[in-house]
Amino acid sequence: MLGISDGKQDILDLTLREAEEFFEGLGEPRYRARQVFRWAYARRQADFAAMSDLPAWLRERLTETAFVGTLRAVAQKSSRDGRTTKFLFGLADGEAVESVLMRHDYGYTACVSSQVGCRMACGFCASTRGGLVRNLRTGEMVGQVTGINALLPAEHRVSRAVLMGSGEPLDNYESCVKFIRVVNEPLGLNIGMRHITLSTCGIVPGILRLAREGLQITLSVSLHSPTDAVRRSLMPVAGKYPVREVVRACREYGDATGRRVTFEYALIEGVNDSDSDAREVARLLNGGLFHVNIIPLNPVRGTPYRRSPPRRVKEFYVLLENMGIAVTVRREFGIGVDAACGQLRRRSARGGADGM
Ligand code: SF4
Repeated sequence: MLGISDGKQDILDLTLREAEEFFEGLGEPRYRARQVFRWAYARRQADFAAMSDLPAWLRERLTETAFVGTLRAVAQKSSRDGRTTKFLFGLADGEAVESVLMRHDYGYTACVSSQVGCRMACGFCASTRGGLVRNLRTGEMVGQVTGINALLPAEHRVSRAVLMGSGEPLDNYESCVKFIRVVNEPLGLNIGMRHITLSTCGIVPGILRLAREGLQITLSVSLHSPTDAVRRSLMPVAGKYPVREVVRACREYGDATGRRVTFEYALIEGVNDSDSDAREVARLLNGGLFHVNIIPLNPVRGTPYRRSPPRRVKEFYVLLENMGIAVTVRREFGIGVDAACGQLRRRSARGGADGM
C-alpha cells in the first residue's frame, strides 16, 4: 500500500475508503477507520494510545503498524502584522519543508509544499537552488496542514489549501492529486474542492491530465511574461512548453471543469512590466475564462530581479483592466518572513533558522 514509511502505514496517506480497507486488512470492522479519522483530524490527536474508544489491543497493534504523520515545526517566523506565519517542518529522513499559514478575514489558508527542493530552476525562486531532493508523499503534504491545525486554537482550522510552496505539484502528480482527495474528505480536513488551488509553472501534459480528473479545484499557472523568450529566461520549463500551448491547455482545463484559471504574473522591473507586455498579455488571454493575478515580486537574495515600483504595478493593472482582462493585485503577505518559497529552508540548511 502507498504511504509506508519505516514499514509503517501513515494514516494521513489514506482516503477514508483506503483506511477502511486498511482496517479490514487487520481483521477489524471498517468503522474503525472513521474512529481513527475523527481522532487524527477533528481531535488533532496523533497518538494511538490516546484514542480511548479503540480497544487496548488495537491501539497497541496500530502503534506497531501505523502512525499519524502530523508534522512538527522545527522553526517558525511570523510577519510583523501577525497575518502570516512561515513554518519549517521536519521530515522523518532529516529533510525539511516549508509551509505558510495566512490569516485572511474569511479564514485560514495553508500554503503547502509538494517536494523537497524543485528541479524546475525558475530564476527568481529560492526553492530550486539545490535542485530536487525528493517528492513528498501525500501524507507528508497532509501532515503540513494537520501540523498547522495542531498549532491553532481548537476552534480554528485551516479551511483553504494552496499547493504553492516548494516544488512543482505536477512533477509529483499522483501524490498531489491524492492530497486533494484526502484533504477534501468530509470526515478528514473537509476542505472544499473550490477552496483548493494547485499552482504550476506550466507543465502542459500535467494540466491536460488534471483537467480529466473531475476535480473542481482552482488551477493557477505562472505566466510571468507573454513572450516565450522572456518566459524561458525566467523559467527554463518554458523552453519545453511554449506559452500558446500553456494557454491552450488552460482553455481545455476551463472547458472541462467550468473553473476560471488564474495566471500569476510577478512584475519584475524592466523585465516584464512594459506597456507592450500588458498588451500582449491581453491578446494572449483574450476571450478565455481567465484571471490575471499580479504579484509584486518577493525579492530573493542572490538574484538580479527587482520588483516593479508601486506606480508601475498600478499602471500595469489599469492597462489590463482597460483591455477587458479580469485582474487583481495580490495582497502582500510575505515581506519580512523570508517570503519567497524556499528561503526559510535554505536559511535553516545554512544554520540560520535557530531562534526564529
Ligand atoms: S517557482 Fe515553483 S516551480 Fe519554479 S523553481 Fe520555484 S518551486 Fe519550482
